[in-house]
Amino acid sequence: MTIVTRFAPSPTGFLHIGGGRTALFNWLLARRHGGKFLLRIEDTDRARSTQAAVDAILDGLKWLGLDWDGDAISQFERKDRHAAVVEEMLANGSAYRCYCTPEELDAMREAQKAAGQQPRYDGRWRDRDPSEAPAGIAPAIRLKAPREGETVVKDHVQGEVRVQNSQLDDLILLRSDGTPTYLLAVVVDDYDMGVTHVVRGDDHLTNTFRQLQIYNAMGWKAPEFAHIPLIHGPDGAKLSKRHGALGIEAYRDMGFLPETMRNYLLRLGWGHGDAEIIPTEQAIEWFDLEGIGRSPSRLDFAKMENLNGHYIREASDARLVDLTVPFIEQRLGRALTPADKDRLLQSVPGFKPRVKTLVELADGSLYLFANRPLPLDEKAAGLLTADARSQLGALAEAFAASTEWTAAALEQIVREQAERTGLKLGKLAQPLRAALTGSTVSPPIFEVAEILGRVESLARLEDVTKG
Ligand code: GLU
Repeated sequence: MTIVTRFAPSPTGFLHIGGGRTALFNWLLARRHGGKFLLRIEDTDRARSTQAAVDAILDGLKWLGLDWDGDAISQFERKDRHAAVVEEMLANGSAYRCYCTPEELDAMREAQKAAGQQPRYDGRWRDRDPSEAPAGIAPAIRLKAPREGETVVKDHVQGEVRVQNSQLDDLILLRSDGTPTYLLAVVVDDYDMGVTHVVRGDDHLTNTFRQLQIYNAMGWKAPEFAHIPLIHGPDGAKLSKRHGALGIEAYRDMGFLPETMRNYLLRLGWGHGDAEIIPTEQAIEWFDLEGIGRSPSRLDFAKMENLNGHYIREASDARLVDLTVPFIEQRLGRALTPADKDRLLQSVPGFKPRVKTLVELADGSLYLFANRPLPLDEKAAGLLTADARSQLGALAEAFAASTEWTAAALEQIVREQAERTGLKLGKLAQPLRAALTGSTVSPPIFEVAEILGRVESLARLEDVTKG
């Protein structure tokens, strides 16, 4: 059997981090077994679905590196097929027309509530003769759901979950305006798309009982199910806006790498022994539904950052440059020149052990492109005392006299001056860092000076000594 999975987002906003994880699990399952990963946009809610949201979801998936097979399918465009299936159900006796008016349904609900019962459709048109149909009322079409027995979901994560059929009422398949309901559309689409495994959030588990009843009514084999626990915030509460970033694109904008997110989201709800660093190729080899945990997992931003630091160290310098340039250009408000990019490329190795996000890399490297005189942050300004400035003046002269402009040669000059003046190396190196970068933290300062080059370094030193 070829495994076919799908991701079925409703396009009402960005790609939610939970949706990203659901997509990842489906993608991994398909890739693990050489199957197919399909994408279906559940755009039947015309009022809430927007093209901008569809684009945001596609962008999010592409950024995460989760490629889908074939074209994305629009659920809305399949509405005629959904209606045709309901016709089949009418013909095979598993569905019926219900002529209740909205007022009648309201009255039913109110009466049930008043009697302390769960509001539900009481099945009053289930066995009525269609000849009794009132004139001028467009009927809704309902499933003739079984009343006896139970419906059982054999779930890969939740185990066997059962509900008494007497608890489920006859759900609407087609509304009186002829539009299909969500529960119907999902079943028809999953069936037609040949979906073998449905992996989705456990907030859909209660829908599954009803969906199984639709499969049974059509005599269709149902897919296998895995309902994954939702993601919680660091405080253990259900993830919500107050926890901050909810959309995948927010993590991109914070400077996380897609491979970090794939690894992090995988571990958020799935485990393989105590492995924490699981590159995607390894994940494809290992992924299985059995490794999905049963309890909700908590977001842990510190862990995510540490993981990102790992993948930044693993990434090639050239790729990091490409990924960081947009952040820098946004901050500078101008495009980087090829020479700027080259400087960045040379400075990346110095940053790798120090930064956890691309934003830190961008912010940390701004000094490379800053206009002179460099703005000094408060700590840097504090270091540049009159004494320090005069030391830097002497250093600048020695630098200018050096024939060689390499980190090693410059370090040697600083060491010699430290020895001569009886200063600790740091007492010279820190003001030098302040003068060259405007900050007190940076990659190794002699490398910084080498990358900045002779002309720019000496000019920056002059700015603070002659200023
Ligand atoms: N469209 C649903 C959602 O965005 C998913 C439905 C499903 O996976 O069956 O939550």
